[in-house]
Amino acid sequence: MSETRPKYDPAAIEPARQAAWEEAGAYATPDPGEGREAVYVKPSSPFTSGNLHMGHVRDYSIGDAYARYRRTRGDAVLLGFGFDAFGLPAEMAAIDRGVRPADWVVESGERMLEQMKRLGYSFDYDRVFYSSDESQYRWSQWLFVTLLEAGLIYRDDATVDWCDSCRTTLAALQVEDGRCWRCHNPVRLIRRPTWFLRVVPFLEENDANLERFEKWDELSLKTQRYILGRTDGVELELSEPGGGEVTVFTPHRDDIGAARFVLASPRHPEVERWVGESKARAQLDELRSGGWERSARDASAVPLIDTGAVLTLGPRGGELPVFVSPIVDARFGPTAVLGIPSVDEADEAIAARVPALVEGGEGAVAGDAGPPAREARRYRASDFSIGRQRYWGTPIPIIDCEACGPVPVPVEELPVVLPRDVEPTGEGNPLAERRDFVDVDCPRCGGAARRETDTLDCHFDALWLWVPAAVPPEGRAEQMFSHPDLRRWLPSERLVAGNDSGSFVFDQRAVTKALRDLGPFAFLEDGEPFAGCLFHEMVVADGRKMSKHLGNVVDPDELVGRYGADTVRLAILYAAGPAKTLNWNDGAMRFAGRFLNNLWDYGLERFAAVESAPLDEEAEGDTGFMRERLAKWCDNGVARITDDLDELQMHKAVRNVTRLFERIQDYEKRVVERRGRLSRADAEALADALVLLTRVLAPFAPHISEALLIEAGREDDVELLGRWPALAEALS
Ligand SMILES: [Zn+2]
Ligand SMILES: [Zn+2]
Repeated sequence: MSETRPKYDPAAIEPARQAAWEEAGAYATPDPGEGREAVYVKPSSPFTSGNLHMGHVRDYSIGDAYARYRRTRGDAVLLGFGFDAFGLPAEMAAIDRGVRPADWVVESGERMLEQMKRLGYSFDYDRVFYSSDESQYRWSQWLFVTLLEAGLIYRDDATVDWCDSCRTTLAALQVEDGRCWRCHNPVRLIRRPTWFLRVVPFLEENDANLERFEKWDELSLKTQRYILGRTDGVELELSEPGGGEVTVFTPHRDDIGAARFVLASPRHPEVERWVGESKARAQLDELRSGGWERSARDASAVPLIDTGAVLTLGPRGGELPVFVSPIVDARFGPTAVLGIPSVDEADEAIAARVPALVEGGEGAVAGDAGPPAREARRYRASDFSIGRQRYWGTPIPIIDCEACGPVPVPVEELPVVLPRDVEPTGEGNPLAERRDFVDVDCPRCGGAARRETDTLDCHFDALWLWVPAAVPPEGRAEQMFSHPDLRRWLPSERLVAGNDSGSFVFDQRAVTKALRDLGPFAFLEDGEPFAGCLFHEMVVADGRKMSKHLGNVVDPDELVGRYGADTVRLAILYAAGPAKTLNWNDGAMRFAGRFLNNLWDYGLERFAAVESAPLDEEAEGDTGFMRERLAKWCDNGVARITDDLDELQMHKAVRNVTRLFERIQDYEKRVVERRGRLSRADAEALADALVLLTRVLAPFAPHISEALLIEAGREDDVELLGRWPALAEALS
């Protein structure tokens, strides 16, 4: 009999299910205002690289399973998605291929969407957006102007890599061993004015909120703490010889009396005064133009400048010489700290480089605890530059006027349109060459002025990349930050993202607080864009990062072609918990493939056998306790899988699905052992258990769950896949 039944053929059933979903509009975003819980699941936004990689597959398989599960709970679910389409990777890919970035982005985005559909991800594809679309970056410009007017964006000097032969600034990833990626000439550092985003005002709140997050996994909390770089300690005032006081910090509260020197950040406001016009001035200038952001953190090699200034510790304390070093920034942010070599290894290494400090001395206040100190903390996180001297990015909406200075473009005149008919060569900034772009009238005085030709780093676009999906496409032009749906969908119930997204998330959290204070997101009281967060580690092969260079790239398309989407999804979820790096191997694929094949064959055969199972009252009475036990196993299985899904621990959930299948088969075996065969009631219980199994499998392997029931002639049961089983519902 079984040989007449069709074999499991994902290449046939998966496209059929996907077409049926598309036709039914199964994953259209529901109206969030129906009295149901609104659940916005936000997966990561990829660059338009043209190819999904296995890290994306991991990310979207987790997010999609969770979204599908929440739909079956009766929640209104938004599974939204958009591309981080501006930036250097797209520009470099376009240069490589000799095409325009605008064309490359669309072509590769469409290809990636096809890949995602082929994997069966239930995104609302009608809501997909590209950050490089005019309708999108217009709002990036709006955000820039809004933050600028609130004093949260400012212009300052930054150190950038510069290639003389290409006449362009370079991003970090374009500098290889100190040489230009394109022409291989040595790169030098220059200072030039650029725009900075102020996040320092939000550090304390970003920190404090971490204590209250209940739906953030340990990995995501860890990255937020790392980026904050918080150090607890004390601060105290030191006196200047000519009067006045300076606040210094130390994490070593019990050893203040052993302080030997003061170490200040080059960004400390007093530094200018301390160095005066001494020879330290030249050193400081050199240090700054030498790019101290990139300085080694090693205290034995980091730049160190003796300012010649001193500060006094306490009324009868000794004098402490003041040094300037970027090591302060790397440890505590732009502050001043006490150097205490006896208890601090980095301070010890610094002291060893200063002859005057090597020669004995017992510390500023020997045998004394020093002056009174108060509890304090410092954060390493700091403002960062958002301007790039590149073509492919959001134009900065600023006009430089000789008479008025930098003038923001009035909001009603946005967007400042990026010319799309540009083929960048990697040489110079093509925007600066375009007279039709550069030459404008000043919006304030009407005089001749120049448009800013720097563009925004795509990190800036990403600050609000979690917003557009929550606004229906037709509302985005006018109401991107004011649409009523935002109040329902935000905060996102769950962000699912790679472990390398920590700084994006951190800055998104800071900007959300700014937008709360400024009004648009006033309804987000704690200023948090994500109520929950799951970070996952990356996918590697042979213990190494996948790269073309190493020839160890696993191609999702090839896997789907060979094994089917359900097998790939199940395997990547099963292979490792999210907090673990997934070392890709075929074992998980074989396991998942075997499981789905067995389930298909077994299911079709057992569903078909129900009608021919004999009615036998005596046998049914004898096996009643076994059916009850099966019901209990089913209940336990559902309870466990539910808990796993609530925690997004998909590897555990998948394991518990496979265990439930083993239990079901075990039930059958025991009935046969006892009675020789299944009576009608036994066979019906078995079939019901199998239907239940497809229901709990569906979030992970949605195609086979439906196709199996349809193939078995149980179309009536398909609608059950849309409802998560309640406990005790199992075999009623
Ligand atoms: Zn070059
Ligand atoms: Zn002007």
